[in-house]
Amino acid sequence: MASVGDNIDAYCLKCKLILSHVIMYKVDGVVNRVKCKTCGAEHKYRGTMPAIKKTAAVRTPGAIRAKKPVAAKVTVNDAPLKWALKSRDMAPSKPIKNYSIKETYKVNDVINHPVFGVGFVEKTIWDKSISVLFNDSVRLMAMNINEC
Ligand SMILES: [Zn+2]
Repeated sequence: MASVGDNIDAYCLKCKLILSHVIMYKVDGVVNRVKCKTCGAEHKYRGTMPAIKKTAAVRTPGAIRAKKPVAAKVTVNDAPLKWALKSRDMAPSKPIKNYSIKETYKVNDVINHPVFGVGFVEKTIWDKSISVLFNDSVRLMAMNINEC
């Protein structure tokens, strides 16, 4: 099973090829977001090539692509409560670091992610991966990645 920070083959929409990507984070153990090592684009993980469309004009005007429903999980999610407590107890002087995949973080660091917002680093999984408590769930995030 690939870990955050590992390389994985994925389809890159920009390069239009199956290329080596770095796993940025996973949700519920599933690779969610990857970064193309060729062009540097970050995008959702796709293991396979999407169906080839002949031209963009084929797209029906006004057609709304239904989003895939997110699989409902019946696990108890106590992240919002834990997050609320942590943010309440956080010292006002605590620095909030902007999240960057190239930086290295340690336990109790507070990060600001452009998508997920403020997160609390709960533990380091290994030297390229941290477990971060965001206000909706805990996510595995990559860090200390300098190869792209
Ligand atoms: Zn690419």
